[in-house]
Amino acid sequence: MGTKGKEIVRISVNKLLKLLNKAYADEWLAYYQYWVSAKIVKGKMRKAVADELVEHASDELKHAGMLADRIIQLGGVPLTDFTKLNNNANCKYANPTKPDTAKILRQAIDGERCAIDVYNELLKVLKDKDEITYHTVLEILEDEVEHEEDFQTLLDDVKSLTKGKA
Ligand code: FE
Ligand code: FE
Ligand code: MG
Repeated sequence: MGTKGKEIVRISVNKLLKLLNKAYADEWLAYYQYWVSAKIVKGKMRKAVADELVEHASDELKHAGMLADRIIQLGGVPLTDFTKLNNNANCKYANPTKPDTAKILRQAIDGERCAIDVYNELLKVLKDKDEITYHTVLEILEDEVEHEEDFQTLLDDVKSLTKGKA
């Protein structure tokens, strides 16, 4: 990266690159989980749930892109090996083996909560150390908070439909 651009980062760039690559791995797993869940989801409010998953999948892919750009700017390389994406992630991939809308939404909510924790911790590491990465991570965290709320609201709707039927 540019000499001056690197100079203003007051944290170990190697340590930072490891943290950013772990978050990058999380984003790919979340992207794939939502993408494939949208394809196979069944049951109550299927269309609404699938549409929200598609929308969020595209946000996660955007986050992966933002992290990759900053990793490259810092002189690193985004993980290129799929096995490493899986092994380095902070948040585990939740395999949608039981693809009814409530279960899919619960898995997605767990994922968003994990992401919120990861980015919130990352902000603490970056605070007063690296304003550029801080700004990027804050922008991602804002999306994850919105994602959690969107999925929770949908799950409440699905649950109230279930109650109404009983
Ligand atoms: Fe994300
Ligand atoms: Fe998200
Ligand atoms: Mg949304």
